[in-house]
Amino acid sequence: MGLPAYDLTGRTAFVTGAGSGIGRATAVLLAEAGATVHCADVDEQGLHETATLIKDQGGTALGHPLDVTDRARLQQAVASCGRLDVMAAVAGIMHSSPVLETLDEDLDRVLNVNFKGVLYACQEAARSMIENGVRGSVVTMASGAIDSGGPGLLCYSAAKAAVVQLTKTLATEAGPHGIRVNAVAPGWIRTPMTDRHGERQAHTEAFMARLSPLGRVGEPEDIAHAVLYLASDASAFTTGQILRPNGGVAMPW
Ligand code: NAP
Repeated sequence: MGLPAYDLTGRTAFVTGAGSGIGRATAVLLAEAGATVHCADVDEQGLHETATLIKDQGGTALGHPLDVTDRARLQQAVASCGRLDVMAAVAGIMHSSPVLETLDEDLDRVLNVNFKGVLYACQEAARSMIENGVRGSVVTMASGAIDSGGPGLLCYSAAKAAVVQLTKTLATEAGPHGIRVNAVAPGWIRTPMTDRHGERQAHTEAFMARLSPLGRVGEPEDIAHAVLYLASDASAFTTGQILRPNGGVAMPW
């Protein structure tokens, strides 16, 4: 590879949510950069497809069918990596309900997957890196919802705001071990998650594209490149940061 700072040859990465969308694009790109990639997801078929994509391009992928809210299973999967250099905690779910109609079970489900699932991944990764003396990188997945909120987004944006605080706090605690912790907060990205918005999707996509100075929504690869930057030595002096690949939608202009 011509750019050594981005070269992950000889490194091991773990990607949650690797069976679809942003997680899949991230797993594929990290493998292209040379990493051995451990892919985790609840969706076994999606996992299989991602692993096949990586192997077809000559990379190395291992699959871990698991739910990120199952701490014991996640612990076992991370332990099976041996030395771990990169954790990309991407798995997440969308939920929309007005505040006055939000049920306890909605809040619990979204916080469990989108916050606790990320917390467990971060904890297992940081423990592994400290034990093995690895000066690794942890990348979490927040969202543009941390800046904008929006009707119906209480559960989702609260969980993503918690991910930001986790990222900043762990960055301060793990920094002395040489471990960097950063978040990516994507704007509207075309993935199966956003596709599930159904008929609202075309309208929202057009709206989001109009808000961007670039006049388009994002693709999963746009976010994968941000994760690669944060995972690699290219960002060696970057920690506790929130990177916003959002087409400039949050920029006052
Ligand atoms: P996606 O296409 O739905 O992919 C998410 C993957 O995570 C799916 O394979 C999903 O499986 C899996 N997953 C869900 N719950 C899980 C669990 N408990 N344990 C393990 N895997 C689980 O979504 P995406 O758009 O790529 O989103 C990826 C991340 O980016 C999420 O954290 C999301 O909040 C964040 N994000 C997305 C956007 C966007 O515009 N797309 C914007 C900002 C932030 P199932 O399909 O079976 O549920």
